[in-house]
Amino acid sequence: MPTALITGANRGLGFETARELSGRQYDVIVTARDAASGERAARELGPSARFVELDVASEASVERAVRSLPPELTLDVLVNNAGVSLDGFDGRVAAATIETNYRGAVRVTDALLPRLAPKANIVMVSSGMGELHRASLELRRRLLDPGLTRAVLDELVDDFVARVRDGARELGGWPRNAYSVSKIAMNAFTRLLAPTLRDGRRVNAVCPGWVRTRMGGPAASRSVERGASGIVWAATLGADGPNGGFFRDAHAIEW
Ligand code: NAP
Repeated sequence: MPTALITGANRGLGFETARELSGRQYDVIVTARDAASGERAARELGPSARFVELDVASEASVERAVRSLPPELTLDVLVNNAGVSLDGFDGRVAAATIETNYRGAVRVTDALLPRLAPKANIVMVSSGMGELHRASLELRRRLLDPGLTRAVLDELVDDFVARVRDGARELGGWPRNAYSVSKIAMNAFTRLLAPTLRDGRRVNAVCPGWVRTRMGGPAASRSVERGASGIVWAATLGADGPNGGFFRDAHAIEW
């Protein structure tokens, strides 16, 4: 059976994605930073699911989680779903948001790349808040520059966090919204990673729309099933599927 690993799968879109993939005969590795709710979620999905503790914001936790996987196991799907949307706008919020939503996805992807099967699908659960029109023209130009490297992307993101911490008025072209910055950076990472993948492996970013989860709130327009459907679509793309795109409801959208 193919195997899928999902971050933040104890609730919300992560859990629904795990449930859908489990229904499609995937062995599912439910990961979460909270062991009690993660174990409960895996139990609810049945015998083809198991729990692995994984806090995407902690290097040590990611290393432990990867070490705990059976050495022969390869993953057919990796869904970088874990994310936070924190109240307020200050240095602490900026650093924590970037650490989880952007660096967490990068950290987990880097750690699991050697475990990905040929033709594996990586899904970055992004957001319309990550669309590039939210950044200044100059920053957009830099982020879309074919010469962009991971080092430069990290510098730009670090610069945002430092400016917010220092109370700067101008944020280097980034929007005054740490969540938005984290998803713009996640999308840029998706574009950088895609051409480096080999043997039919793919990475795509997906916006689930506005979804009724703890993050989206009760007034959101979409059910969790509807929100997860685009994630599941990207997680189950075949060999001729796209690589390095940004999608909502299986349709390409503008960066
Ligand atoms: P949610 O119900 O709040 O779930 C967020 C999940 O992320 C929870 O499982 C949470 O675990 C986990 N998480 C947070 N920090 C983590 C960490 N350091 N390590 C591991 N897991 C962590 O929100 P959701 O709506 O399902 O969000 C899932 C993804 O969809 C996020 O990336 C979000 O940005 C994206 N998204 C959501 C919407 C929306 O309208 N809902 C729209 C666009 C994009 P805990 O239970 O331990 O907190």
